[in-house]
Amino acid sequence: MAQIGFVGLGNMGLPMARNLIKAGHTVTGYDLNSAASDRFATDGGVAATALDMACMGAEVIITMLPAGKDVRDVYLQRGGVLASARDGALLIDASTIDVETARAVAAAAQVNELAMVDAPVSGGMAGAEAGTLTFMVGGSDRAFERAKPILEAMGKTIVHAGGPGHGQAVKICNNMILGVSMIAVSEAFVLAEKLGIDPQKLFDIASKASGQCWAMTSYCPVPGPVPTSPANRDYQAGFTAAMMLKDLKLAQEAAKVSGARAPMSAAATALYNLFVEQGGARTDFSGIIRFLRGGEAARKETTAPQEPANN
Ligand code: NAD
Repeated sequence: MAQIGFVGLGNMGLPMARNLIKAGHTVTGYDLNSAASDRFATDGGVAATALDMACMGAEVIITMLPAGKDVRDVYLQRGGVLASARDGALLIDASTIDVETARAVAAAAQVNELAMVDAPVSGGMAGAEAGTLTFMVGGSDRAFERAKPILEAMGKTIVHAGGPGHGQAVKICNNMILGVSMIAVSEAFVLAEKLGIDPQKLFDIASKASGQCWAMTSYCPVPGPVPTSPANRDYQAGFTAAMMLKDLKLAQEAAKVSGARAPMSAAATALYNLFVEQGGARTDFSGIIRFLRGGEAARKETTAPQEPANN
């Protein structure tokens, strides 16, 4: 069993770190927010009061932070991960961030002779609690093999996507498909309503025809056809529209840098941006259907529960 440092004990990080403890690892956790560290201590973790305390002596250091700038800061600052890690430590960044930052930090780790993987997740808070996350891993074969048994304590599916940054690349490409397809499915259900078609009828037919996709069959944006979808609980997240917008923006940024044309996801980004601006930020991303029906987002948001994200 390993000595692990865990940085970022938020909605995702805390349950992930708890699962490492359950698997028998010794975990020292650090978060800027001391209340998060205190919660971790009551769950059997060791709470560090400074970043370097969580890193020093750890065989593996895992980070689960909000954005690329936080990852740069935590890894590269004086007294940060790279400066504090012991020789031979393995570094795992599970945050969802931009590909460029993931590659820059991995390159800096290599200069320090430290192995690193980017390992963003899908599966949301429910998956983090249950230990059933999917990890999309970017890094060398050797680093992947070292990371795999650690990730298995927090996830069910661990896939090697390729070299440094490839985990992030796969994650944002996947969520780009999801963001675009959720809008397409929502538009179809709104049109069906206008044409007097029962949503269940559209579902029964399209889910067996060429319109079939995950956004429809696992996460249907209208109540009824898929009882577990957020539409059945007033679009309580789930995976918030704010998170979807973050991932779509990362995809747009990557498309710009790499010269890929991505007009559909540009349109999806603009729509989610409007939805978020009109008050839909904490609503599940499938709540975009309200926005497409016209003018309902802001009104509904005032009654939407303040629950954080998923996926
Ligand atoms: P969160 O905001 O709940 O947690 C992030 C934690 O990091 C916070 O507790 C914050 O205090 C801490 N933090 C920030 N800067 C820090 C620093 N410099 N040092 C130490 N701690 C610091 O976010 P989350 O929902 O847990 O998401 C984390 C990452 O996982 C994000 O990149 C997100 O995109 C990704 N993700 C989230 C979900 C989800 O459903 N929430 C799903 C998939 C992926």
